[in-house]
Amino acid sequence: MTFDPETTTFLIAGPVRIHPRVLRAMSMSSLNHRGDYFHGIVQEIRELLPVLFGAKGHQVVLSGSGTSGLEAVYSALVPKDRRTLVLANGNFGERTNEIVRRYSAHVTTVSAPWGQPLPWDEATAELAKGDVGAVCVVHNETSVGLANDLSRLAPAVRASGALFLVDGISAVAGIPLPIDAWGIDAVVAGSQKGLAAPAGLALVHLSERARAALHPGTFYLDLAAHLASLEKNDTPWTPAVPLFLALREALLLLREEGLEHRLERTHRLAEATRSAVDALGLALFPDRRYASDTVTAVRNPDGMGDAAVRKVLEREYNVLVQGGQGALAGKIFRIGHMGIADWPDLLVTVAALERILGKAGRLPAPGAALRAVVDRMP
Ligand code: PLP
Repeated sequence: MTFDPETTTFLIAGPVRIHPRVLRAMSMSSLNHRGDYFHGIVQEIRELLPVLFGAKGHQVVLSGSGTSGLEAVYSALVPKDRRTLVLANGNFGERTNEIVRRYSAHVTTVSAPWGQPLPWDEATAELAKGDVGAVCVVHNETSVGLANDLSRLAPAVRASGALFLVDGISAVAGIPLPIDAWGIDAVVAGSQKGLAAPAGLALVHLSERARAALHPGTFYLDLAAHLASLEKNDTPWTPAVPLFLALREALLLLREEGLEHRLERTHRLAEATRSAVDALGLALFPDRRYASDTVTAVRNPDGMGDAAVRKVLEREYNVLVQGGQGALAGKIFRIGHMGIADWPDLLVTVAALERILGKAGRLPAPGAALRAVVDRMP
């Protein structure tokens, strides 16, 4: 079998596989983005966004990848004259730090080694020192396959009065996030992850408090301007029209499945993936207690790097998983199982891994990993 981008078993950590309905939705002739037809689409999207976030609030769609949503939020909500607390335990936490430092000279960073849980006590102690205006944290650290347990931080953030700003790019529609119960003020989602739409849009949820606190940030990503336009089913600048069409269809699919069901299915797939990893004799990269439900990060077997595992999966089995980032390049591979990823994708991937390890004489118990998946199927 050779790699074929159109038929590959596609389990990278986002973009994810896209449903044909969503693909078809994009194939439309050019639309007047200031015309009634497109306004109707924007209105539908607006009405559907609470399905994605599992909460009502001030919600916008930005034409730009997930990072555009982060830049929109940090540039408009990180205070200039008070401290901002950034938490980091992976590549995207470190990037949060970089973005926030463009907009504030008063940043305190609390970090843990990549893949380890965040030091919640240290973060709480920083909050207790006072003068923190915003807290920025990644919910699901895609780079290391670890979900940060924000319930450990939420009460202290609320008590401090700081704005709670969450990068939910690889978590939204994959890992439960009780936005209102935890007092979260901003959540950024990416279209290409749990929502299973094409890459290129950022979805932003803001609380009432966050909306009131918006100050001018970047011009193009000005959240106040986007919100004001959206209230008229419009966008301030020319939107990525085909992506908006795809977004509407992906939101409709999510509503048909139901957010709860998608979260539950993603969780079951994650548990099956972790069991398969055990049965393959491989090790998870992150602290197991916090292993992510949307992406599983696995250490490459000793003496077998990317060339012996991930590249063989791609070349010989037409299965795409993702490599490690930064210092983890060549050391881990990551299996994404969010969005519309499903049991057949996982079965093919695990079968191929069994074969690769078996041929290398490194498979502890042939068939056990497949069995682990099959036993967890509905
Ligand atoms: N934050 C997290 C947690 C991510 O997983 C990603 C992308 O994978 C990003 C930020 C950056 O998003 P984008 O590449 O869509 O700009």
